Amino acid sequence: MNKPEAKTQDPIKKISYIGVGANLNNPHSQVQNAISLLAELPDTQLVQSSSLYQSSPMGPENQPDYVNAVVKLETQLAAFSLLRELQKIENAQGRIRNSERWGPRILDLDILLYNDEIISEPELTIPHYGMRQRNFVLIPLFEIEPTLMLPQEQPLAALLDTVNTSGIRKL
Ligand code: ATP
Ligand code: CA
Ligand code: CA
Repeated sequence: MNKPEAKTQDPIKKISYIGVGANLNNPHSQVQNAISLLAELPDTQLVQSSSLYQSSPMGPENQPDYVNAVVKLETQLAAFSLLRELQKIENAQGRIRNSERWGPRILDLDILLYNDEIISEPELTIPHYGMRQRNFVLIPLFEIEPTLMLPQEQPLAALLDTVNTSGIRKL
């Protein structure tokens, strides 16, 4: 008998927010192109996307500014399948993985939230471990979902009050 396939799709639609970032090869068009590709993901609808923002780099400072956005998806993909689809888009846009942490990149797609699920695997941690501290995530997320509650009843608005909002501007 064949082994059952890993479950890739669920009939129940989930809401997921994706953080989009780029700082190489015309990052503005990289982000716009990535948003168009997110709209074409299988079993997924793009509900809303934020404005684009320009932000100072996190980590190594000798790299160009980033362009960031957040996209709201409604999806029937399982969380790990969604991650694989995002990695396909990163690769298709020519992202090269190197060893420098937070180094420059053509495209970065992070799953910020997936319904109110908590996933704690090395390959997939949800909520994204850095989202609560990053203004380039919280500001565009707040633009599209000001009343959002994170898992464990944590209001997005309260998190936003804790971050420095300098070094980022709406494009
Ligand atoms: P950071 O994770 O701090 O934002 P990064 O985005 O530059 O840094 P990557 O090199 O893009 O890090 O990803 C490293 C690994 O993180 C990926 O191989 C992926 O499996 C894992 N990962 C864990 N949680 C998530 C998540 N929520 N979304 C996307 N990737 C994740
Ligand atoms: Ca990231
Ligand atoms: Ca990433």
